[in-house]
Parts: sequence; C-alpha cells; structure tokens
Amino acid sequence: MTYSKEIFNTAFQIMDSRRREAEATAQRHTNEIYDKIPEIEKISRKLTACSLGAARAVLKGSNAKEELEHLAGISSDLQKRQAQLLLEAGYPADYMEPVYTCAHCNDTAYIEREGKTLYCDCFMKLLIECSCDEINKLSPLRLSTFDTFSLDYYPYDTNTEGVSPYTRMSRIFDYCKNYAKNFTGEGRSLFMQGATGLGKTHLSLAIANEVLNKGYYAVYVSAPTILSRLENSHFEYNSNEEEHLMQTLSDCDLLIIDDLGTEFQTPYSKTAIYNIFNNRILKRKPVIINTNLSIREIQDTYSQRFVSRIIGECDRLEFLGKDIRAQKA
Ligand SMILES: [Zn+2]
Repeated sequence: MTYSKEIFNTAFQIMDSRRREAEATAQRHTNEIYDKIPEIEKISRKLTACSLGAARAVLKGSNAKEELEHLAGISSDLQKRQAQLLLEAGYPADYMEPVYTCAHCNDTAYIEREGKTLYCDCFMKLLIECSCDEINKLSPLRLSTFDTFSLDYYPYDTNTEGVSPYTRMSRIFDYCKNYAKNFTGEGRSLFMQGATGLGKTHLSLAIANEVLNKGYYAVYVSAPTILSRLENSHFEYNSNEEEHLMQTLSDCDLLIIDDLGTEFQTPYSKTAIYNIFNNRILKRKPVIINTNLSIREIQDTYSQRFVSRIIGECDRLEFLGKDIRAQKA
C-alpha cells in the first residue's frame, strides 16, 4: 500500500476529529447527568478512587490479587447502581460513554493483534476514501441521479438499422439502474459507446451516486486529465505520485473512465490505460468506460490486447439518439 503523506495526514485528522467529537459529546452528557442526578457524580468519584486503588495495589505487588478482587467487586456494584439510576431517569445506561465511529479502535486508528500494533481496518478504508476524494477533485464529480434522466429526448422512430433509440435507451436505463442496485464491488465492467450528448456521463455518474450512497468508493476520471497527470508524474520522476494514483485507480470499488479516446495518444498513455484496466479486471473490480469511438476506431487506436480485454470483460451498451444538449439548447 502506498499512500502519500498528505493522504495519511488527512486521514489522521479525520480520525482525530471523530475521537474528539465522541469524547466531547460524552463529556456534555456527563455534565448534564451530574446536574440532574448528583448521586451519579459521587459514584463517578468512587469509581475513580477504585481505579487508582487498583493501580496502587498492582504497583505494591503484595496481596495484589485479593485487593484487586475486592476493588473489582465494589466497582461492579457502583456501575450497576449508576446504570440503574440512569435507566430510572429515562437515559440509556451508557449515556455518559463516548460513542466512537469504530468500536474496534475507539477512533485511534490502531489496534493490537497478536502482540503487534496495526492500523485498524477503519483507517485503511479511510485512506482509500481520502485517495478517492483526492482524485475526484481532478475532474469534479458532479453527481447525477437516475431521477433526472429523461427518456423524452430519445426518438421512438426506428433508425436505418430498424432500432428505435427510445426502446434501446429504455433498456440501457433499466440496465444501469439494476447495475447500481446490485453493485457489490465485484463483477462485470461496462463499456458505454455512442456519440456526444447521449447520456453516457449522466448514467455513469448516476451509477456512481448510488454506489457511493451504498458506502462504496467510486472514482470518476476523464481519460485526458488522468492520463496526462500520470504521464507528467512519470516523466518528472515523481514516482510517488504516479504510484499513488495508480494504486487508488486500482483500489477503488468502482472506476469510471470518461471520454476514452480524447486523450493525447502516446506510448505511455496506451500502456497506462491498459494497465489500469487490466489491474482491475484481475482483481474482479468493475470499470465503466465511456467513449465516442466505435469498436473499429478503438481497434485502430489501441493495442489488440486492450480491445480483446474490453470485448471479453465488459457488457457493451450502445447509446442511440440525438445530442440532448443540442436539443435542450
Ligand atoms: Zn477502527
């Protein structure tokens, strides 16, 4: 796993604010309870005295076991009494305890396992989330929804091949809704083809929106932006950035590559796009590729292995109709 120092810092700051927030809320609740139920404040003081007593007994060493058991007994009785008082006053028994976002690490980012200190899973997830956010900043992920997608712009009349754009697009619309609904972070990739302004970006962003709402990490990039960014880091020998971007593109749950074919074609960009796609396919992680190019043009532009990969691994959705932006204008 390679994450930049900035990503680590951002993730640690988030953990820190979660922890502070949970503790501040607990403190507010405690003050409220001390005001309303003074007996609980006395109990809390006694509980503190018990813990101090236990610590002292351990340090002394002699007869520690007996004394610790005695103190544990007192402490348990006090806690029961406290819970009872809280419940009687209509509060949950744990009202004064901090409620952390992660119960495994109490929002510290660390856990102990088999004598080792490790990063908690919640922190690893947060690193991915922060990396996705960082890449999404490159091509602002203005999310669309299925609700704002209208089939009214697609003609009913059949085209020269005997297909009605309306019928085709209704099927594609349903397909995309089901794809988003059944998304599990694994499975088929999509290849959306068709002229500009037929709703490819809209539908792929609507999928991203649902996927994000389900708690998965979606990254949206436009091919020219991400490939030039990667290529610049590569040739500036900023291998950290290149490695970090590649890692995130390969780790996120859903990757959307928009406008494939509009990037500046270089040997580097062709290899990079193949590697991004291939890394994900090997991990069974889905990609949505959008392009204005026909399969023929894709074959003329990219390597045979990339084209075979796309044909073999993606469900192909061929968008039909007339440019919606032009119709609206
Ligand atoms: Zn955790």
